[in-house]
Amino acid sequence: MEDMTTTNPRFCELGDLLDATDFLRETRQHLHRHPELSLHEAATSELVATRLAQWGYEVTRNVGGYGVVGTLALGKGTRSVAVRADMDALPIAEETGKPYASEVAGVMHACGHEGHTTMLLGAAQQLAKTRNFAGTVHLVFQPAEEGEAGALRMIEDGLFERFPCDAIFGMHNHPGVASGTFLFGSGAFMSASDRALITIRGVGGHAARPHMTVDPVMIAGSLIMALQSVVSRNIDPRQIAIVTIGTVHAGVATNVIPESATLGLSIRSFDADVRDRLQQRITDLVSAHVEGYGGRVEIDYERGYPVLVNSAAETEFAREVAEELVGPERVVAPFGPVTGSEDFAFYLQRKPGCFLRIGNGESSAMVHSAHYDFDDANLTVGAAYWTRLVERFLAQAA
Ligand SMILES: [Zn+2]
Ligand SMILES: [Zn+2]
Repeated sequence: MEDMTTTNPRFCELGDLLDATDFLRETRQHLHRHPELSLHEAATSELVATRLAQWGYEVTRNVGGYGVVGTLALGKGTRSVAVRADMDALPIAEETGKPYASEVAGVMHACGHEGHTTMLLGAAQQLAKTRNFAGTVHLVFQPAEEGEAGALRMIEDGLFERFPCDAIFGMHNHPGVASGTFLFGSGAFMSASDRALITIRGVGGHAARPHMTVDPVMIAGSLIMALQSVVSRNIDPRQIAIVTIGTVHAGVATNVIPESATLGLSIRSFDADVRDRLQQRITDLVSAHVEGYGGRVEIDYERGYPVLVNSAAETEFAREVAEELVGPERVVAPFGPVTGSEDFAFYLQRKPGCFLRIGNGESSAMVHSAHYDFDDANLTVGAAYWTRLVERFLAQAA
């Protein structure tokens, strides 16, 4: 049999996936009904692995936890490409009122990962059916994106050694932008995400005798305002940096000055030097500030996901594929940067590639909202996109 890519240069088009529309919607809504938290994606990964095996993929289970890799190698091509979807849900009680709403109390797919998984399954089915490429595709179904660094778990379990690839691609839905619109940004595209837990220790006592205490509540209040100076006075105004104080905890009674107060910070940045500077300034400022008031402080500063950096050539390639598929009016480039974080950043520290976004509807609720729902209209376009991207990538000269 001749190599299809040389005799048939036609790549996947939107209309090719129309027959799959019902199947994809049913799959997505099934996954939506049965969400699984990070590190618990047993049934989801089972469904993924079973389908991939049915379609003729070589399936590897339990990569970095419940991760699944489906591999299909065709023809004599030497190139290899990986496409990743995430599978996990969130500890949120769903309030969409949809007929296919979560059947698991307090757990829901509020980030659309079941949509990402279904789009990639749609591409898996189409690629296996048309077999219109020569080379190797690895479809990576990743667990534990929501704060548990599933990407790093798969990498540490040998993902890139066991499933070598020339580049890796991934996609996330994007509320607030029309469905089916593709968004691309080269370079630093999503932020690094770090957190700090600050525990201020004072001397507790009676509310009526404050002079005999060291009041951690007053110190915390002063510190909340002082921390706002880090971004405005210590970071180059041309850079993006965010310091948000998301939690404040202290005290149980109005007539008691408590022993301690805690602040929880979320810190975002798009540049390694800015990230270091934020950590240094926050640490120095907090220490000096609390000590200045006579208190003691413990700072637990934890680095989370790194800056997500898209490589230029692969981002341009991914943009071209979208433009061919849906036309330039449904492609936005450059877009962003986006001040959220993604563990896909770990893949991009090791391989060239692109993490792109697809609109989820202008009126869509934000991700991580109890009212959020993935737009099924994206399933066929997303599946067609991944199919065409794989075909095009593997058709390129090595
Ligand atoms: Zn999320
Ligand atoms: Zn997400």
